[in-house]
Amino acid sequence: MTTRPVVAVLGLGIMGRAMARNLLRHGLPVRVWNRTAERAAELAGEGAVAAASPAEAVTGADVVLTMLTDGPAVAEVMREAAPGLRAGQVWFQATTVGVEAVTGLAELAGEHGLVFVDAPVQGTRQPAEAGQLVVLAAGPASARELLRPVFEAVGRHTEWLGEDGSSGVASRLKLVLNSWALTMTNGVAEAVALARGLGVDPALFGRVIAGGPMDSQYLQAKAAAILAGDFTPSFSVRNAEKDARLVAEAAERAGVRMDLALVAGERFRRARELGHGDEDMVANYFGSFPN
Ligand code: NAP
Repeated sequence: MTTRPVVAVLGLGIMGRAMARNLLRHGLPVRVWNRTAERAAELAGEGAVAAASPAEAVTGADVVLTMLTDGPAVAEVMREAAPGLRAGQVWFQATTVGVEAVTGLAELAGEHGLVFVDAPVQGTRQPAEAGQLVVLAAGPASARELLRPVFEAVGRHTEWLGEDGSSGVASRLKLVLNSWALTMTNGVAEAVALARGLGVDPALFGRVIAGGPMDSQYLQAKAAAILAGDFTPSFSVRNAEKDARLVAEAAERAGVRMDLALVAGERFRRARELGHGDEDMVANYFGSFPN
């Protein structure tokens, strides 16, 4: 068994780029592809092999890592990759795709004899850059040894959740975590917006809550970002809108009423329509001032 598996990274957005860099730092051979080619060229300058197509990228790889926007994008790119896939490759599917899409992706893996590992990640840009993600993984035990150096390069911990990637158990947990993240982000943004609207110094919100039981690092960081007008994306409004929809859809199918996810989705949609789609999800703040 190889201790330095060749990893093909498909998708070099905020997360994929950071994960590819950490794989390189850990000495793993990395092949990269991205729809917008400049991003792959950048990684080539850092030691990765840049491929012109998904098929070229996955050729000869031991592990295929997908970190794209959503389920349809992953399916599309893996179909393009098909000519380069070979039976036995391990597919580390890290994109947040929700519950429904996992079934189709697992079937796609089956068609090509790939070992499917449903493995979304917890953590945003900064933990991704620091190699401190938590990997939520479900897939055959036979793939774990090969994946160990890959998961160790991108994360600080792997939570193994079973041997059946197609069960979607990891993606279901990811939606639970995102439900909380989306709610918190909207809560902070609304509180700051309310302060502004009521003529209260918004900095007082973070200051008064500091150190008490309702405080959190996340709250302080997001409130400070709004006050500084710094909407550099860790997790874009566009992707947050997608995840709010995935949470709401999964909940509806499970018979769980999720009022907050629906409202969160509305706020992200408004912020995107106001031109903030590529900014950090805390820019849902602008959804409080639609006119
Ligand atoms: P991102 O910065 O928006 O990057 C998205 C990537 O997907 C880009 O490489 C983009 O290519 C590619 N892409 C989109 N549609 C495509 C298509 N139809 N065909 C081919 N490529 C396509 O997103 P991210 O923040 O890295 O997140 C990636 C995934 O991880 C998402 O599912 C997100 O929900 C999840 N996630 C994000 C975070 C976070 O904090 N950012 C944390 C955990 C999980 P281009 O460069 O050409 O646009």
